[in-house]
Amino acid sequence: MVTIFKCQPSRKWDIKTEGLMTINRMAGPRKQLKAVFWLLCVVAGSLSLPCGALCESPDPYAAARQRMVVRQLKARDITDPKVLEVMGTVKRHLLVSRAYRSQAYADHPLPIGEGQTISQPYIVALMTQILDVKPGEKILEIGTGSGYQAAVLSHFTDQVWSIEIRKGLAQKASERLKGLGYENIKVKQGDGYFGWPEYAPFDAIMVTAAANHVAPRLLDQLKMGGRLLIPLGSTTYYQTLTKITKTPKGKEVEHLLGVVFVPMVGKILEE
Ligand code: SAH
Repeated sequence: MVTIFKCQPSRKWDIKTEGLMTINRMAGPRKQLKAVFWLLCVVAGSLSLPCGALCESPDPYAAARQRMVVRQLKARDITDPKVLEVMGTVKRHLLVSRAYRSQAYADHPLPIGEGQTISQPYIVALMTQILDVKPGEKILEIGTGSGYQAAVLSHFTDQVWSIEIRKGLAQKASERLKGLGYENIKVKQGDGYFGWPEYAPFDAIMVTAAANHVAPRLLDQLKMGGRLLIPLGSTTYYQTLTKITKTPKGKEVEHLLGVVFVPMVGKILEE
């Protein structure tokens, strides 16, 4: 899908005038290029041509992303304004393969390679809303996948760590996140069952793969008062999104809703 910079017919003359005035004031090759660009837009507009090819917007999925926020998030139970703002900002289409870009903001999960999936936008927003990350908190994600959930979390705090067991996915996510300027996310390839002791304790841990129990080391690496969100249950059928809060009296457990995630693998399968 290509979203075009709209050269609206009613503004044709304005654009033309602005364009010509700009040309007169310009000097140097870069400015001349810019002037030619505008001139081409004007020509396309004057001839009432679709100007998509000439005036392509730098973010062709901006409109699709806003529609996703309104129809899939606001229309359901995503009410946290910051979550809505961030979901309207993070470029999900740049964290999936080219073949799936046009579906990046659709209301369903998408393949990300190696038999894994990126959750539908609503589940990412919901888990983010439930985790309720505050600025400065240290967050650990298990199951980097595409890197999208980590990117969303990184808008709430400046410290996000994410572990991905599959080397290819870890590498790709890490490169894409860096390319998009997410310098505050550290990705490592490894088994999330063991957490990331070097950076523990964490204020919150989000597990984005289905597990039939909570890895004891993840609980160990949680601060007192910290929360852990995990799809808990059968790894072949469905799970219950579960929030566990570590309190001085023990674990406080809340069973929230039914979900379906790809299974957590590695050490957990031996336990
Ligand atoms: N959060 C991801 C989607 C997660 S899909 C996103 O935003 O795209 C679940 C991911 O968990 C898969 O990529 C899978 O390879 C990974 N995974 C499974 N078991 C794991 C483990 N033991 N440690 C770390 N990652 C694991």
